[in-house]
Amino acid sequence: MIERTLLLVKPDGVRRALIGTIISNVENVGLKVVAIKMVWPSKEIAGKHYIEDENWLLNVGNKQIATYKEKGINVKSSARDLGVKVRMQLIESFSSGPVVPMVIEGNEAIFIVRKLLGATEPRKSDPSTIRGRYSMDSYDMADKMQRPILNLAHASEDKKTADREIALWFKKSEISEYSRVDESATI
Ligand code: ADP
Repeated sequence: MIERTLLLVKPDGVRRALIGTIISNVENVGLKVVAIKMVWPSKEIAGKHYIEDENWLLNVGNKQIATYKEKGINVKSSARDLGVKVRMQLIESFSSGPVVPMVIEGNEAIFIVRKLLGATEPRKSDPSTIRGRYSMDSYDMADKMQRPILNLAHASEDKKTADREIALWFKKSEISEYSRVDESATI
């Protein structure tokens, strides 16, 4: 099924000069960029991107707790408190420099772009993924430095989130409809 998703090169991805590499990974599988821009986000837009959603806060905190458990590290904070802390760090980080949001379109675009990106923690991301190949950060390093995990890019998680995030970063008139040459191939 043809879908649209939001892929956003985060400030660390822009500063690492990986915009082109990230786009190439997406284009090389057959997906296409239908909208793109560079923006230095305000705290307001960053806060709207990472909205205060109870499930998201718990999920983020629980992922960190699970990883710490594997490493035998004891966590004193609740999952929600960890989620709230990470959200504040993300808002600071997003407004610290330019980001490159883009709309990606194609078959199963939401799932495929997440697959190309890899797991949240680069330490664990498969080396064939963008995060696994080009970054190496970990939960405990991020914790020590009091900043979000540096994992280069964000991609929408599901259709509802993709629709919301695309509408946050782009007006309808900024999204182009066109065909890739390989879209009309019959073999
Ligand atoms: P993903 O970006 O893989 O969908 P999440 O939605 O769980 O991951 O988290 C959003 C972003 O927040 C992550 O990409 C990462 O940059 C940051 N992050 C998540 N959990 C933590 C954490 N425990 N400590 C620091 N940063 C985190």
